[in-house]
Amino acid sequence: VVVLEAERSLGVHSSGRSAAHSHFGIGDAIVRQLTAASRDALLQPDAEGHAAAELQGALFVANEAMLPDLADLRARVTEHADPESVGEAELRELCPLLRIGDTGAVAGLYDRTALKLDADRMLQHAARGVRARGGQVITGAEVASIDRVGQEWIVGVRGGSEFKAPVIVNGAGAWADRIATLAGVPPVGLKPLRRTMIGVDHPVPASLPFTKTARDELYFLASGGALLASPVDEHPSAAIDAAPEEEDVAIAADRLERWTTVTVRRIAHCWAGLRTFAADRVPVVGWGEDGFFWLAGQGGIGLQTAPALAAAASALITDRTWPYAGIDPAALAPDRLINLRAS
Ligand SMILES: Cc1cc2nc3c(=O)[nH]c(=O)nc-3n(C[C@H](O)[C@H](O)[C@H](O)COP(=O)(O)OP(=O)(O)OC[C@H]3O[C@@H](n4cnc5c(N)ncnc54)[C@H](O)[C@@H]3O)c2cc1C
Repeated sequence: VVVLEAERSLGVHSSGRSAAHSHFGIGDAIVRQLTAASRDALLQPDAEGHAAAELQGALFVANEAMLPDLADLRARVTEHADPESVGEAELRELCPLLRIGDTGAVAGLYDRTALKLDADRMLQHAARGVRARGGQVITGAEVASIDRVGQEWIVGVRGGSEFKAPVIVNGAGAWADRIATLAGVPPVGLKPLRRTMIGVDHPVPASLPFTKTARDELYFLASGGALLASPVDEHPSAAIDAAPEEEDVAIAADRLERWTTVTVRRIAHCWAGLRTFAADRVPVVGWGEDGFFWLAGQGGIGLQTAPALAAAASALITDRTWPYAGIDPAALAPDRLINLRAS
């Protein structure tokens, strides 16, 4: 196995720009199943005794107008977790930063089993696993050409090196349709959407949950001692090195001030990343043309579903038993998107 990464290090794009939280309040039933199927692997300590995940509760909050959204969310989250419905007093206790009552949250849903992920640990652990089994991870290797010769792919890297393999796994995130086009394989119509994150100088209680409005407006969480927030924005983008727009940063700060008692005096840092979706917002895992395998369209759930998507991909590539009784592989297969576009 050879992993070719265009950048000088791993995690320069989406995987290094995420909020790195795992909860059941995102995506459809398939995404929730993949999220549930990934939990054990994420909580499993590595050889040094460190796991990629630790518990960090997810608190979904609603003002009066969002109460129906909170009820919908409850129905979805309870498929896999046992969240508690909480009122104003508990909200105040769980998330002391929140504005409560007339001007803020009036009700919430708390899943204490949600997870904070360590994206860097996940990437480095995966890269170590490849190397330990005799594979290579080569950075600074931008794939510039892909040709099929007989039963093999010839992959040309900018600068001259060439690699031959019977199978290509297309895990190029926002660039995955471009990689398919290089290989002469039909693209599946992936859409990268930009999302903004800000980091604010403000003390954060150690137990602060990942807190998200029931309708997509704001989420905030503690990460490495900092307070991060996102306006849950989605702006269509080309596949590029995404950068935050001033207006989105201002909206993030404004919403944080409206939903919490935090005064944003200084934005310590901000960034944007691409969440790349297929038309039905379900990941794309499966064979395209002969020897060309898709592992893309991971949208906003690529970290929390990574172990399950990897197990699904590996089963299909090596022709082993499909690991998930409850998930139809056809629901992840790229064909569904080509049929969807045709209809
Ligand atoms: C702001 C934000 C918040 C998020 N929050 C969460 C969250 O809380 N939980 C969660 O599970 N997910 C979250 N996500 C989503 C998650 O980050 C993505 O689903 C996941 O990182 C996608 O991984 P990927 O490997 O497909 O893409 P990437 O990490 O972008 O990797 C694709 C790689 O392909 C490389 N590449 C492209 N073209 C070439 C080429 N020609 N040759 C060689 N290499 C190439 C790129 O350099 C890149 O490194 C969030 C994303 C963002 C942006």
